[in-house]
Amino acid sequence: MRSASVIIVGAGVMGASVAYHLAVRGWREVLMIDRSEGPGQGSTGVATGGFRAQYGTAINVRLSLLARERFLRFRDEIGVDPGYLPAGYLWLAQTRAELDILRAGLEVQQAEGLQEATEVSVDDIGLINPAVLRDDVIGGTFCPTDGFITPLQVLNGYLAAARRAGARVEWQTAVTGLIRDHGGPIVGVETSRGRIATEAVVNAAGAWAAELAEHAGVSLPITPLRRQIAATVPCGLLPPTTPMTIFAGDGFHFRGRDGRVLLLWPTPGVNGKPFDISVDREWIDTVTAMARRRVPILRNVAIDMACCRAGLYEMSPDRHALLGPAPGCDNLFLINGSSGHGVMHAPALGQLLAEIMSDGAASSLDVGALSPSRFAEGRPNPRSGLL
Ligand SMILES: Cc1cc2nc3c(=O)[nH]c(=O)nc-3n(C[C@H](O)[C@H](O)[C@H](O)COP(=O)(O)OP(=O)(O)OC[C@H]3O[C@@H](n4cnc5c(N)ncnc54)[C@H](O)[C@@H]3O)c2cc1C
Repeated sequence: MRSASVIIVGAGVMGASVAYHLAVRGWREVLMIDRSEGPGQGSTGVATGGFRAQYGTAINVRLSLLARERFLRFRDEIGVDPGYLPAGYLWLAQTRAELDILRAGLEVQQAEGLQEATEVSVDDIGLINPAVLRDDVIGGTFCPTDGFITPLQVLNGYLAAARRAGARVEWQTAVTGLIRDHGGPIVGVETSRGRIATEAVVNAAGAWAAELAEHAGVSLPITPLRRQIAATVPCGLLPPTTPMTIFAGDGFHFRGRDGRVLLLWPTPGVNGKPFDISVDREWIDTVTAMARRRVPILRNVAIDMACCRAGLYEMSPDRHALLGPAPGCDNLFLINGSSGHGVMHAPALGQLLAEIMSDGAASSLDVGALSPSRFAEGRPNPRSGLL
C-alpha cells in the first residue's frame, strides 16, 4: 500500500498553504489530493480577490494583519506576485444602526493596531470613490491598506513553493473514505485510485468539508452558500485603484477588475440544492438595477453574461474559521469555515495549522477563538452585521 506522512484533502488555497508551511517545517511525504482536474476548480478560482482587515472581531483582524505581513513578503518568500494592491475598502452606512456597527468594528480594529482604519464623512466618501451616489449614505469607514489580492496567483504560488519544498499533489483523485483504527486515529484514506496509509489528514475540502469529515464519523458545522458575481463588459470606467465599496446594510459591493466592473450582492443559495452554482438571471437583473441606481456611471454599461459566475462560500455558524484537531478525532486537522474570507486568510491559517501540527499549539497567534469545539462548548464568536 502507498503511504504519506500527511494527506491534505483539497488543493485549493487552504490545502496549498498548509502543504507549503508543513513542507518548509521539514515534514516529509506531504501529499495533497484533489478530485478536480487542476488548480483553481473549487472556490479559490472564483473568488473576487478582496483583502481586508476591517472586521468586527479581534481574531479576524489579527488573521488579516498576519496575512498582510505575509503578502508583503510573498514575492520574496514564494517567488510569485500575490497581487496585493492596497486600494482600500470603503464601507457605507445608510442608517444610524449600520453606522454604529461600523464604529464598533473600528474600535476593535484600532485596538488591534489597525490605526489607518478611520471613520469617513459623506464628503470624504465622495473623494475616496466619486463613482458612488451618496444621496442616502450617512457615513462610513475606510481602511487604505485593505484592497485586493489575486487568488490564482496566491494559490499557484503556494502550490509551486510546496512542490519545491518536497510536497506532492495528485489531481483527479477523490477521497472516498477515511479509515479509523477501531474508532481511534485515522490510519489511511480510501481514494478513487486506491488506499493510502497515513499518520494525519488535513481537511482542506472547502465547501465540501462536512462531507469529508463525515467519512471519519465527525460532524462538522460547515455549509455551502452560493455567491454570484455579475461582470460588466470591458468598460474601463473604474480604475483598478478604486476601493472595494460595500453597502453595510445589504452587502451590495463592487470593484473594478481587468477593465470590467464586478457586482456582488449576497443572497441565500438555491432552495434544496446547497451545492448548486448556476447563475440566476433574475439575480443578475436585480443586482444590475441596484448598481445602476447606486453607481450612476454604470447606467449604460451592459452585463457580459459569459463572464458572470458563481461559487461556494464555506460557511461556519459564527462566520469564523475552524482551525485545529477535530473534536473526537485527534489526527484529523481542520482548516475550514472561513466563510468567504479564505483567500485573504490562507497565509495566516496555513502557517498557524502547521504550528499546531508540528508543535502541538500555534505560536504566532492565540487561536482559541477558532477552536473547532467552541460551538459544542457554547462559546461561538460574536457576529456583527456583515463585518
Ligand atoms: C464568489 C466568491 C467570491 C469570493 N471572494 C473572496 C474574496 O474576495 N476574498 C477572499 O479572501 N475570499 C473570497 N471568497 C472565499 C474563498 O474563495 C474561499 O474562502 C477559499 O477559496 C477557500 O479555499 P479552500 O482551499 O478551502 O477551498 P477550495 O478552493 O474550494 O478548495 C477545496 C478543494 O477541495 C477539493 N475536494 C473537496 N472534497 C474532496 C474530496 N472528497 N476528494 C478530493 N478533493 C476534494 C475540491 O476539489 C477543491 O479543489 C470568495 C468565494 C466566492 C465563491
